[in-house]
Amino acid sequence: MRILAKGLTYTYNPKSPFASQALKGVDISIDEGEFFGIIGHTGSGKSTFLQHLNALIRLTGGFLKVGEYDLSDKKCNFLELRSKVGMVFQYPEYQLFAETVEKDVMFGLKNFRKDMSDEEMKAAVKEAIETVDLDYEEIKDKSPFELSGGQKRRVAIAGVIVTKPEVLILDEPAAGLDPLGKKEIMDLLHAIHGGWCKTIVFVSHDMDEIAENCTRAAVFSDGRVVMEDTPAEIFKRSDKLISLGLDIPVTAKCARILKERGIEIETDFTSEDFIVKVLAAYAAKAGA
Ligand code: ADP
Ligand code: MG
Repeated sequence: MRILAKGLTYTYNPKSPFASQALKGVDISIDEGEFFGIIGHTGSGKSTFLQHLNALIRLTGGFLKVGEYDLSDKKCNFLELRSKVGMVFQYPEYQLFAETVEKDVMFGLKNFRKDMSDEEMKAAVKEAIETVDLDYEEIKDKSPFELSGGQKRRVAIAGVIVTKPEVLILDEPAAGLDPLGKKEIMDLLHAIHGGWCKTIVFVSHDMDEIAENCTRAAVFSDGRVVMEDTPAEIFKRSDKLISLGLDIPVTAKCARILKERGIEIETDFTSEDFIVKVLAAYAAKAGA
């Protein structure tokens, strides 16, 4: 399912003294199969945009289509849309509530898949829990509250992917985790991508994560998308990112230092490509 937004606007508390326009005309196009990153400073509209994608926030201005679902159409089948667009909120572990991990993961399935038998549901829950790399037998009867932070987050993700949504949306899935925890979440998303969920869209503040992982990314600023491109093209414009108050990947920082010293590196800003290009530049220099 392709995601296409044109001129999407949204105001919280309209017609009140507290009105605040969160989206001021968002244009974005995310193809089926992408591993798409969203970056931007706090308050730039990222979460508001994401919540439009499965109609948690109803469209009030502009155009938005997700696959064949036209979200401006009042007759749009929102329940069906939500079964195809899974949403993992920020700090999703706070939304775990059931007595056991198994019941928690099954909750979403019960809502969306009334056609499945109890056996089929249990099998799907087991598969989802194993997909997020947890031991089903060991964990299924535990209370979610007994688990570690990283395990809780995995259980929360399992509870969303259990319905096998075509599109998986995650709002800062790695927030608050240590570097190893972050890497594990990225590995997990890659394992889900292409199999369980065709398209992945996620918000991140970690520019290295975006440079290393994404097919393309969008930069939000003040309620609009100001860049939408491959990480290679986005991080070429590191001056622009810095002027927007954003960070840049370590590779882009190093490339800037080298440039000051007269060495221009053409890289896609993944660490592997960067090192290969730096070594080639030095070899060429040594030869000359
Ligand atoms: P981001 O996810 O990029 O940090 P948000 O979409 O959360 O941005 O917020 C965009 C703007 O909308 C901000 O100015 C924020 O203060 C405002 N906003 C977000 N949620 C609410 C809300 N529930 N009520 C009022 N204003 C909100
Ligand atoms: Mg947010």
